[in-house]
Amino acid sequence: MKTLRLDIISGDYDKNIKIASDILKSGGIVAVPTETVYGLAASALDDNAIKNVFKAKGRPQDNPLIVHISGMDMLRKVAREIPDTAIKCAKAFWPGPFTMVLKRTDLVAESVCGGLDTVAIRMPSEQSIRDIIECSGLPLAAPSANTSGMPSPTTYTHVLNDLDGKIDAVVCGNDCLVGVESTVVSLFGEKPRLLRPGAITLEQLKEVLPDIEVDKAVFAEPEKNAKVSSPGMKYKHYSPKTEAFLVEGSSKDFAEFVNGKENSLALCFSEDEEFISTKYMVYGTKSDESTLAKNVFSALRDVDNENATSVYIHAPSKSGVGLAVYNRLIRAAAYKVIKL
Ligand code: AMP
Ligand code: MG
Repeated sequence: MKTLRLDIISGDYDKNIKIASDILKSGGIVAVPTETVYGLAASALDDNAIKNVFKAKGRPQDNPLIVHISGMDMLRKVAREIPDTAIKCAKAFWPGPFTMVLKRTDLVAESVCGGLDTVAIRMPSEQSIRDIIECSGLPLAAPSANTSGMPSPTTYTHVLNDLDGKIDAVVCGNDCLVGVESTVVSLFGEKPRLLRPGAITLEQLKEVLPDIEVDKAVFAEPEKNAKVSSPGMKYKHYSPKTEAFLVEGSSKDFAEFVNGKENSLALCFSEDEEFISTKYMVYGTKSDESTLAKNVFSALRDVDNENATSVYIHAPSKSGVGLAVYNRLIRAAAYKVIKL
């Protein structure tokens, strides 16, 4: 299949948004920019189109997708129960990088939900996906537009590297502002539960949901065959081909640890540079962890061009946006954490 490029930066924006919408209405699959990462969108009402999304990504069928909506009327179409907590979160965090899991309606294609009675829903802030939802009139199921297991795509070039020839089109827009996937919170159970950290931080969530619990899969590897609340958490994720290790410690200790290690690469903060004498790449500054979020996936892809046997990644803090980055990196490192 030939993958159409729909350029919305230097091309005709309205025309290309309309083409993307028409492809989606006729059951096609299209990669679109969002403020978090690029998503691979299909109609959330079309079981066949959703199956093609799973196929193109090589994604396990039991790992459900997030449904993207553009307004509260669409929320009522896909969720059959909307608790007060959902309204509060929508007011506080939508549009934006926040996803809520609620009980689903029958309108949502079964394959979107991985066999669950619930659906994950997000109202993005990126204008182009909002315009495509509006223009098509469809809620759009969209996982990250990468090959399953690879780092998530934050530019359309990343998308093409993974999926060129496997999907109908790519909407070529700006690089993603946030850089890590949305915060996912389950709101249908007794207590709200953080399933995946993102740019909406745990600290922000606590202001709206004081009794929120943090799922243990946020920090640790789920046990084999354990029932997990968010199926995505049990799969290998975000991995470069180079063997990755996550290293916790100060700039000086980190540098001392990596300096002199043969055939290795350090992925570090700008604060570490003055201490490092081995090959390294910087992925942001620890004084502003949103820079780490924005660059982490791109850096994980670049690591594989360096011909190193191992990459040692300096771990961010586990607070604020740092927690989201930490959560992605422990998966990229297959839970190999070195504490200095
Ligand atoms: P991605 O599409 O790659 O951003 O991943 C979506 C994440 O949301 C995965 O970790 C899913 O397991 C999670 N998710 C989606 N739908 C549900 C649901 N109904 N219940 C729990 N987690 C969900
Ligand atoms: Mg993903």
